[in-house]
Amino acid sequence: MVEHLADELVQRHGRLVDGVFRVAWDALWDDAAQNHEDRCTANEVDPALLDSVGEAWTERLASSFEPALRTLTTPEFRLVAEGPRQELRPLLRVLSEARTRVLHLLPGIAVAPSYRLPVVALGNPFRLDRYVTPLLPEDGPDLPLAGVFVSDGLPHLVVGAHRGNTFDTVLHHELTHAYVSHIRLPVWLNEGIATSIERAVDLHSQPMTEEEFDAHVAHWNATAIQRFWSGSCWNGSDEEVSFAYGLARMLVIPLMEHAEPFARFANAATWEDGGEAAAHAVYGRSLGDLPAALLGAGDWAPRPDAWNRDADADDAVENGA
Ligand SMILES: [Zn+2]
Repeated sequence: MVEHLADELVQRHGRLVDGVFRVAWDALWDDAAQNHEDRCTANEVDPALLDSVGEAWTERLASSFEPALRTLTTPEFRLVAEGPRQELRPLLRVLSEARTRVLHLLPGIAVAPSYRLPVVALGNPFRLDRYVTPLLPEDGPDLPLAGVFVSDGLPHLVVGAHRGNTFDTVLHHELTHAYVSHIRLPVWLNEGIATSIERAVDLHSQPMTEEEFDAHVAHWNATAIQRFWSGSCWNGSDEEVSFAYGLARMLVIPLMEHAEPFARFANAATWEDGGEAAAHAVYGRSLGDLPAALLGAGDWAPRPDAWNRDADADDAVENGA
């Protein structure tokens, strides 16, 4: 029985750490691969086992909180959240609608996982911090965390809200990261897609003001743009991160208007050159033409040779907020 196996694995490799049930995921998957070859082939775990592991883990995670969190499931999600059940039930519809929307807005790019995707929604900032901080890179940006797609272990979403517009907006952003995580996108493109989806569904969003746009013109130059293409600016100051999200969205929204070439571009774009070769192959031009159209002529093309590539940018790709 796959449920029994999942339960055994989670029990064997899980324990309470500072009052939160944590799983040693690498050990669990190693164990599963070594002892249950019928369920785990090279880099692939049987979807039924993944789903049952998700159930066994989220139930224990929910019970480890005081008072316990609730778990609610749909055919596509496992919601772990705080609050009365009748308040949480409407969120299930929000999850399902967000899934439909993200898949619809990103044809040929977004793919939903084959197991029920766990979504841990915590509106209480202390509980959110306790759960999520050990999962994040230590030197990541210090912005107040709205949400994160955790790609390690059993990939899942964490949303720093458990109701209302914030839940809805953050959910769309993080769900997008989850659904494009099978492609190793450059950070700017990953965040550009996620913020564009967020913007497309957020009825309350304001267009960029003239002052904000002028600030972008003043901020971006030949040095800053290399940090943008390489992804390293996502580990910079709060201000730099904020400019990076803004520019990523400005570049990606017009590209997304033409879904078919954009899907080809996104699937071909690589992290190593920021997507420059893919831009030439699909659009017949350099990525540098995109900021040029917005900010005016300048030295905007990606120059991967000049990038000081380090593990930080890699973390930003793996656990993008
Ligand atoms: Zn993001």
